[in-house]
Amino acid sequence: MPTPDPYLPGHGDTRYRVRHYDLHLDYKVTTNRLDEVATLTVVPSQELSRVELDLVGLKASKVLVDGKKARYRQRERKLAVEVGQRQPGEELQIAVTCAGKPRPVPGVHGAAGWEELTDGLAVGSQPYGAPGWFPCNDDAADKATYRIHLVVAPSYHVVANGTLVDHEVRGGTGRWTYEMDRPMSPYLATVQIGQYVVDRRRASVPVEVVHPPQTRVGRGTAFERQAEMVEVFSELFGPYPFAEYRAVVSDDDMEIPLEAQGLSSFGRNFCPPTWENERLVAHELAHQWFGNSVTAEQLADIWLHEGFACYSEWLWSDHRSNGGDGLDVQQQAAKHHEELRRKPQDLVLADPGMPDMFDDRVYKRGALTLHAVRASLGDERFFEMLRTWTTENAGGVVTTDQFVQHCLRFVPEDGFELAGVLDAWLRSPEIPALPVVDVEGSRNTLKSIAERIGARLGLG
Ligand SMILES: [Zn+2]
Repeated sequence: MPTPDPYLPGHGDTRYRVRHYDLHLDYKVTTNRLDEVATLTVVPSQELSRVELDLVGLKASKVLVDGKKARYRQRERKLAVEVGQRQPGEELQIAVTCAGKPRPVPGVHGAAGWEELTDGLAVGSQPYGAPGWFPCNDDAADKATYRIHLVVAPSYHVVANGTLVDHEVRGGTGRWTYEMDRPMSPYLATVQIGQYVVDRRRASVPVEVVHPPQTRVGRGTAFERQAEMVEVFSELFGPYPFAEYRAVVSDDDMEIPLEAQGLSSFGRNFCPPTWENERLVAHELAHQWFGNSVTAEQLADIWLHEGFACYSEWLWSDHRSNGGDGLDVQQQAAKHHEELRRKPQDLVLADPGMPDMFDDRVYKRGALTLHAVRASLGDERFFEMLRTWTTENAGGVVTTDQFVQHCLRFVPEDGFELAGVLDAWLRSPEIPALPVVDVEGSRNTLKSIAERIGARLGLG
C-alpha cells in the first residue's frame, strides 16, 4: 500500500485525496458514546475501484457511495470501500455511518487523539490520532476543508475548528456547527467539550480564551497578553492565517498543550503567570503559521513546525523583556546553544527519526537554525523571508529543501555562503558555533512593531 510518510507506516494513502469532510457527531459525554456520520468528498489521484480509509476503534454499520449502498470491509485500522471503476479527478462522495466508544490511538509517542476529561473532551491527534474518531485519509499532506456538527447535552460548551456558524438548544440537546474553510490536515481536526465560558479579547482577528468559570485567565495569568501575542506575531510572520484564534483551557491538568487549526488546548495547570507557561502560550499560537497553515509534507521535516514555534517563544521573550529583566533573543539563543552542546550530538535535524521527532533538541536546534539564518541575512531580510514563507505557502505543504531554496532568495548578490550554514545546522549532527544577532538592531525591529500594534489596539 502506498504510504505517504515513512514515519507513519500504514497511515494515509496517496491513491486518492479528500477535498472536504462533513462530520456529524452525536456524543454522550457521560458514557463516551459516539454516533457518527462522516461524509467525505474524495478525488482519486489514479484509476481505482476501492478507497481505503483510516479508521480505528469505531465500527462502521453502513457506507453510501454517491448516495447508494456500497460494499465495504473493515479491518483493524482500515475501512475499504468498493466505489466502482473511477478515473483520476472524478469526484465521489463516501458517507460512513459508524459508532462506538472512541479511544486515543496508541503509537511510539504514546496514545494520541480522543482524550476524555473529568467532565468533557479534548482531542489532540498529533501525529496519528485522527483515525480514532473519524474515517479519514490520515496524511498531513492531504488537506481538506471541514464542517463539524456536534450534538451534546445542552450544558456543555463545544469548540471545534473554524467559525461557529450555528448554535441552538433544541429537544434537550445543544447543537453546534463549525466550519473550517481553509485547508486542514486530519491530525489538526479537533473537538473540545466542557463546562466553559468565553473571554473575548480585542485584536485584528477575534481572539477568545475559552475556560471553566472558576479558572482565571485574565490579568496576572499566562493568557493575559494573548491578544497582543497575536498582533506581534502577525507583524513578524505576516497576517494571521485563519478567521479566528481560540485558546481552550480545560478543567483538568494536562501534560502538554497542543495545537489544532484555529485553536490550541491547554490544561488549567498552564494558567499561572510563569515564563514556562507563557512561552507555551506563545509556542502554540505560533503553530497557526508554522505547522497548521504551512505544514511539513512529511514528519521528518517536523523542525519546520517545532523549530519555528520555539523561535517564536524567544521572539516573544525579546518583545516582552524590551530591555527589562527577561532574556532577549540573543540570550535565549546562547542559553539553549550551551545546553545543546552538553547533550549528545547524534541527531540530524532534517531527519531525526520517528522516535526522536519530538526530542527537545529538534525544537532548540530548529530555533537556533532560524537564528543562524537571521544572523546571516540581517533583520530586514530575515523577517521578509519569514513573511513570504508563510504567505506564499499558506494552506499548503512544504519540505526542508523548499525552505533552503526560499532562504537563498534573500541572500544579497555580494552575499555570503548561507547554503553552507544551513547545511551544517540541518544535515550534520555536530552543533555549529553560536550565531550572533545584533541585539540593538533587533530592539529597533521590535520597537517599531510595538508602536504599530500600540496604535492599532489603542494601547497608547
Ligand atoms: Zn509545538
